Amino acid sequence: MNDRSSTPSSPASWTLAGKVALVTGASRGIGRATALLLAARGAAVAINYAGNEAAAREVEAAITAEGGRALVVGFDVSDPAAVDRGVDAVVKGLGALHILVNNAGISIDALLMRASPEDLARTLDVNLKGAFFCSKAASRPLLRARADGRIINVTSVIGEQGNAGQAMYAASKAGLIGLTKSLARELAPRGVTVNAVAPGFIATDMTDAAIKAEARDALLKQIPLARIGGAEEIAEAIAFLAAPAASYITGHVLRVNGGLLI
Ligand code: NAP
Repeated sequence: MNDRSSTPSSPASWTLAGKVALVTGASRGIGRATALLLAARGAAVAINYAGNEAAAREVEAAITAEGGRALVVGFDVSDPAAVDRGVDAVVKGLGALHILVNNAGISIDALLMRASPEDLARTLDVNLKGAFFCSKAASRPLLRARADGRIINVTSVIGEQGNAGQAMYAASKAGLIGLTKSLARELAPRGVTVNAVAPGFIATDMTDAAIKAEARDALLKQIPLARIGGAEEIAEAIAFLAAPAASYITGHVLRVNGGLLI
């Protein structure tokens, strides 16, 4: 038996002190909540955004105001050269990279008849290829981190159960589950774990834009816990998977959905 298999459940097993994390799409919503929580648990956090620098700076200010370390790195996750430069900037700026949270995502909803090739390409480019590019760029520092290395992909309940009008989004999120399981097998020999978190419906800009008031009532009836989730509740699951407490979990899809899919 080694030290890790006997790690007791203690505050120490939840701490991220000394770790460096990169959270993609951390300027708003789930990514923002994740960046704040990882920093509160002691990690130095790189805050990625695509266009909204002011929001990313606000997250940085919130972390530094609490005495944490943060770095803002703007890049489009769908651009592999920009991703490489961004990950390099994180390693140079914060000294290492132990935890990658592939959270950046978009939702372009359309019925099959109306879906365009451009919308499909953009959805896959950001949601699926973006996570692939970031994982590839981060692989060297993550392998150096060995058993502290973590990749956490933010998929969706829609990737597991599908949804009418969301075929493009569902395909991208289902692909992310396949990516998670393959990378879990590939990186396990080096001690790096790879998991996914699959949120249900969470109150963010994404759902505010997508769910109309009448649809919201119908949706609540399908959720056993009878409420939309909070971004902080997804951040808690991500922070758990990032922590020493989750050292023996890999290739797992953790559903955080109020019972919407059981
Ligand atoms: P959100 O509020 O719309 O925020 C999206 C974030 O992603 C923003 O920080 C945005 O940056 C960033 N982003 C978008 N495109 C990007 C790109 N090409 N490169 C880099 N960053 C990019 O979304 P959210 O609801 O928090 O969703 C976060 C993740 O959770 C997504 O992967 C989403 O699919 C997943 N999810 C959400 C829900 C939900 O109910 N909200 C449910 C299941 C899964 P800017 O601010 O710069 O635009």
